[in-house]
Amino acid sequence: MSNASVRTGRHFLQIPGPTNVPDRVLRAMDMPTIDHRGPEFAQLGFDVIEGSKKIFKTRNPVIIYPSSGTGAWEAAIVNTLSPGDKVLMVETGQFATLWRALAERMKIEVEFVPGDWRRGVNPEDIEARLLKDKQHSFKAVMVVHSETSTGVVSRIHEVRKAIDNARHPALLMVDSISGLGAIEYDHDGWGVDVTVCCSQKGLMLPPGLGFNAISDKALAASKSNSSIRSYWDWHEVLNANKTGSWSYTPATNLLYGLKEAVAMLLEEGLDNVFARHKRYSAATRAAVAAWGLENLCQDPREYSPILTAVVMPEGHDADQFRKVTLENFDMSLGSGLGKIKGKVFRIGHIGHFNDLMLMGTLSGVEMALTVAKVPHNKGGVLAAMDVLTGRAGAAPAKAAVA
Ligand SMILES: *Cc1c(COP(=O)(O)O)cnc(C)c1O
Repeated sequence: MSNASVRTGRHFLQIPGPTNVPDRVLRAMDMPTIDHRGPEFAQLGFDVIEGSKKIFKTRNPVIIYPSSGTGAWEAAIVNTLSPGDKVLMVETGQFATLWRALAERMKIEVEFVPGDWRRGVNPEDIEARLLKDKQHSFKAVMVVHSETSTGVVSRIHEVRKAIDNARHPALLMVDSISGLGAIEYDHDGWGVDVTVCCSQKGLMLPPGLGFNAISDKALAASKSNSSIRSYWDWHEVLNANKTGSWSYTPATNLLYGLKEAVAMLLEEGLDNVFARHKRYSAATRAAVAAWGLENLCQDPREYSPILTAVVMPEGHDADQFRKVTLENFDMSLGSGLGKIKGKVFRIGHIGHFNDLMLMGTLSGVEMALTVAKVPHNKGGVLAAMDVLTGRAGAAPAKAAVA
């Protein structure tokens, strides 16, 4: 067993965000901080705004804040809704629960469709609920695209269709914080009104940037609502953005990083990025099945490309297992959040990542299962290798990939 106080080689950061920051991005940020009102900065400002649009797939403005994702959640609400407004949200997991709590602090009245944290948003539920809302009292439907606490991805384009089928004017606001840059996403094509994101997940940056991509309809809503706001006000930022600047000091060095991260994603090609993540998740699911453990996500249509949440066998604590993994193999796995604390651990396979990093990760999990005396079958790593080398048919039947 290794001496936990001495570390050699690289730490394995396999939580689903913050994710590993590529050396290219680290080097791009290693710059003197420049005058944020000067011409050199303006070029950077224009570049990152234009670049971000390509990742969100929108022709409209993308607002970039020096903030965490939570700040961008708040910005989406205070720019489009007024205190007392009603919204429809769905309990997909911990992040949906936290966004709801934030909305309620902003005096938004939330109807929260209950969920078991093993499935995504059911578009039929949304349509049925909106059809009943003849008065159009819901001002927005607010959902999480990639629920990072459960490894479940909701079908946002179908949620859009559900709203349209019900002929309901509610705004569609989506948290794609752990989806953007890793899982297919189309802000304009799917008719999303506000997409919320931040820097430290699929965008491969350190924490510190928050994003709101917006539609014309959201922009119109922002002109006629009464929520008190200043720092988060879209119009303040949009005005300053006309000259490539911000209405306050932006996170200059993170913006250098953003420019590089966008370049990397576009060089690889977004479709290739999405396919790569799906491959990792297929291999990880094959490993989990071969170990005889259970995937938290229940619906194959909703398997997350960016993380796999694994249910701990009865009588074993996931946080104890994570501790054993960290101490023995210098690898961080994601914890169970909220009401599934101690019951699941999460394997992140998102961002700057490749086949051998995945094999190292899965080897670490399989070894830690042995060290922590968690009952399991051997052969998960082998099953994952068969998926990565296109020999999944050769894996045990249990490891078949959906
Ligand atoms: C990480 C995450 C957040 C929270 O972002 P912070 O930067 O920690 O505020 C919100 N929603 C989802 C889906 C996330 O993955």
